[in-house]
Amino acid sequence: MATYHIETYGCTSNRGESREIERALRDGGHRPAPGPDEADVAILNTCTVVEKTERNMLRRAEELADETAELVITGCMALAQGEEFREAGIDAEVLHWDAVPEHVLNGECPTVTPDVEPVLDGVVGILPIARGCMSNCSYCITKFATGRVDSPSVEENVEKARALVHAGAKEIRVTGQDTGVYGWDTGERKLPELLDRICAIDGEFRVRLGMANPGGIHGIHEELADVFARNGKLYDFIHAPVQSGSDEVLEAMRRQHRVGKFREIVETFDDRLDEWTLSTDFIVGFPTETAEDHERSMELLREVSPEKINVTRFSKRPGTDAADMKGLGGTVKKERSKAMSELKMEVVGEAYGSMVGTEREVLVVEEGTADSVKCRDGAYRQVIVQHAPDHGVEVGDFLKVEITGHNTVYAFGRPV
Ligand code: SF4
Repeated sequence: MATYHIETYGCTSNRGESREIERALRDGGHRPAPGPDEADVAILNTCTVVEKTERNMLRRAEELADETAELVITGCMALAQGEEFREAGIDAEVLHWDAVPEHVLNGECPTVTPDVEPVLDGVVGILPIARGCMSNCSYCITKFATGRVDSPSVEENVEKARALVHAGAKEIRVTGQDTGVYGWDTGERKLPELLDRICAIDGEFRVRLGMANPGGIHGIHEELADVFARNGKLYDFIHAPVQSGSDEVLEAMRRQHRVGKFREIVETFDDRLDEWTLSTDFIVGFPTETAEDHERSMELLREVSPEKINVTRFSKRPGTDAADMKGLGGTVKKERSKAMSELKMEVVGEAYGSMVGTEREVLVVEEGTADSVKCRDGAYRQVIVQHAPDHGVEVGDFLKVEITGHNTVYAFGRPV
């Protein structure tokens, strides 16, 4: 899936949620469409403040369902009165804001097109370094659009990064469908060199490495861990989607790694870095997934305790091999997804809880709701600073904070 259309109704907070969804989608390589009729997915972020608004929301949802390929409804009305859309016979997924990016991304890698240029969004610079991947996952539709790996030179990417820094970027997000295989097509694995070179650009900024499949980074994981250890500008953060804790399911998914390789990567980073964030993805309810396979995924999640986890309930994508497999029932998928989502909240909550009482340097990445700002620490954990104007804190600032509390997926910090 490559293009989206998003419509937002209601208050500032709802607009903030849409901004967050959009950022996750853009980060995943998706692009805005000129209108709903040209979008692969339309997202309706609803408001339900008065009855008239509800009627408008239902009418707009009906129109969008007709105009667009796929409709996702989120927002206050979706949460409070989601059944009204179903009762009106509107063909749409009704989801919580947080679940929208995962649903749209569907466990696939981000889609990067060859002509994608860097984008500066506030102080965040998005830098696509290559397109394509080395794999042929049985559930993936993205692959049809992007093909094999195609890597521009290190020099070219460094120049783009330099231009972003000069334009005011404080955070550079290095993205790609599979960043770990950057350079594979040229016969040389170049990600470590590229990261070193971007970090050597003059200026105060941070660099976040985007999605890298475990199969792609396994051959260079030791070198990569050293690059992280020596570069303070690089967030100590890896997004390596494992997708399952069962080798049999990984084989049916045609993933290029097995659980052992994923574990080796995690162990190497654990050895080399004091504090780092593992972000990973699990697809729950793949057609061949047995109850034992699901339990293996749950065990792996407990064992490696990622600080960020995306759980995607399997859904068929037309034209893929997995779409022809006999699927599991909706109830089974729902139960497994619920169990894993609960475990995820527990594991991630513990990670953020362990930060309380510590002091750390953060970068203010964007404005939050009310007068708060969203920041990232050195391990890319999210830290919210409230009453930012009272502390003279602005987007783009680097500051030291004490962590005073936490929610499940972020911490609260007070400037010190
Ligand atoms: S690695 Fe797999 S999921 Fe990702 S784009 Fe390639 S085929 Fe698709």
